[in-house]
Amino acid sequence: MASATKVLIVEDDTHIRRLLRGALARAEHQVIEAATAREAITALGIDKPDAVLLDLGLPDRDGIELIQLAKAGGAAVIVVSARTDTSEKVAALDLGADDYCNKPFDTEELLARLRTALRHRLAGNVEREQVIAGTVQIDLLHRRVRRAGEPVHLTPKEYGVLALLAGHPDRVIAHGQLLREVWGPAHVQQLDYLRIAVRSLRQKLEDDPSRPRKIVNEPGVGYRLVIS
Ligand code: CA
Repeated sequence: MASATKVLIVEDDTHIRRLLRGALARAEHQVIEAATAREAITALGIDKPDAVLLDLGLPDRDGIELIQLAKAGGAAVIVVSARTDTSEKVAALDLGADDYCNKPFDTEELLARLRTALRHRLAGNVEREQVIAGTVQIDLLHRRVRRAGEPVHLTPKEYGVLALLAGHPDRVIAHGQLLREVWGPAHVQQLDYLRIAVRSLRQKLEDDPSRPRKIVNEPGVGYRLVIS
């Protein structure tokens, strides 16, 4: 068996830290704790964690300043924040955070996001050729999509959105990134373009388009293709 994954908890609230420590220990992770940004910087340098659970509201510095440092050290980063401001989440994702969870968080959901982020970290930047989401098969190499074995016709923009999501399955991709990469930098504000494409994708790919299970909404932030 592989050695335990090292997870650094950066959190100034002792109650939440204890809660996270218990959950991570039950999942057989090795836990390191930091209560301030200063302690976190030291731990990043010395312990070289595989993943960081990062609170943004720290007493000495804004947690957001630690994202790039943690990513540079090769750690997966999951922001665990009480801030409801969606622009903060988008900023964290832009800086390289792998995912985020809102406080109060569901421990199982947090652990699932951590597993996904760690899996991505191990996979590195390997280009995926095929992604399966339930009955939907996305062949990224040949730009073909099938549902229950039948070919699905997508417009170039619909395919662009789906391919970008499929390139990072189970991860939230921000609206701005989707618009920038599929429609171009001049259209990053055209949320309606994206909404229309997603609605159409759901009509073509979801079992019940009014209750999407594959292309899920992260309110105010972006979309996620669920494969697990
Ligand atoms: Ca805090």
